[in-house]
Amino acid sequence: MRRKLVVGNWKMHGSRAANAQLLAGLKEAGPWNADVAVCVPFPYIAETALALTGTTIAYGAQDCSSHEQGAYTGEVSSAMLQDIGCRFAIVGHSERRAYHAESDQLVADKAKASLAHGVTPIVCVGETLAEREAGQTEAVVKRQLAAVIHTLGHCCGEMVVAYEPVWAIGTGLTATPEQAQAVHAVLRAQLQAATDRASAMRIVYGGSVKADNATQLFGQPDIDGGLIGGASLKAADFAAICLAA
Ligand code: PEP
Repeated sequence: MRRKLVVGNWKMHGSRAANAQLLAGLKEAGPWNADVAVCVPFPYIAETALALTGTTIAYGAQDCSSHEQGAYTGEVSSAMLQDIGCRFAIVGHSERRAYHAESDQLVADKAKASLAHGVTPIVCVGETLAEREAGQTEAVVKRQLAAVIHTLGHCCGEMVVAYEPVWAIGTGLTATPEQAQAVHAVLRAQLQAATDRASAMRIVYGGSVKADNATQLFGQPDIDGGLIGGASLKAADFAAICLAA
C-alpha cells in the first residue's frame, strides 16, 4: 500500500505574516493520515522550517539548480536545500518549462542533483491543451519522464512523479478522475519497465485539486495524492484536501 502524499506549491505567493498564519492553521488542523509537505519560496524556507519544528509536515523548494556549486548567480543548489532540511524539491513544473524554457534534459539534471543530496525530486510532467487535443498526451508525458528515467538510472525509483496537465493548472479545469488515472497508469507502466520500485513509487496528480474533487481523484488506483497550487494558500482548503487523502 502506498501512503498518500499531498504537497502544497505556494508558487510566488506569501509574506512572513501571511505564511505564519497559514502554517499555524495547518499545524492546528493536522496531523493527517497522509504525508504532507509545503514547497515554499526560497526566502521563506528557513522560517517555514522553524514554524514546522515538532510537526510531521515536511517542507521543500519549488526548484533547484542542476549544478553542484559555483558561478551560477541566482541559483540555489540542492546541497543548500539539504543543508536547511528540505525533504522535497519540485522540478520541471510547467511554469518553469514554459517561462524559463527548461528542457526535458535540464529537468532530469535537476532531479539528479536533488537526489544526490537526499532531497526527493517531485518531477512534474504534463501536456498542454493543444497536445491533448492532438492526441499526444501519452507521447508527451512519456518523453518527459523518459529523460528523467534515463538520467537517474537505477535511482529513478526514488523520485516522486507529478502528473499535471498544463490545461488544468490554475484554470479551475480538472482532469476527470478517469482521465487522470489513465495517464497515471501509463506513467506507472513506464516506471515498471525501468525499476522494480515502480509499484511503491508515488505518482501524484496536480491541476485545480480542491476539497470537493480530491476524494474522487485520490480514490483512483494509481493516484497517490496531489500537488496543490491555489488551494494550498488557505489553511482550511489545504487541510481539507489532506483529510481527503
Ligand atoms: C500547481 O501549480 O502545481 C498546481 C497544480 O496549481 P493549481 O492547484 O492551482 O491548479
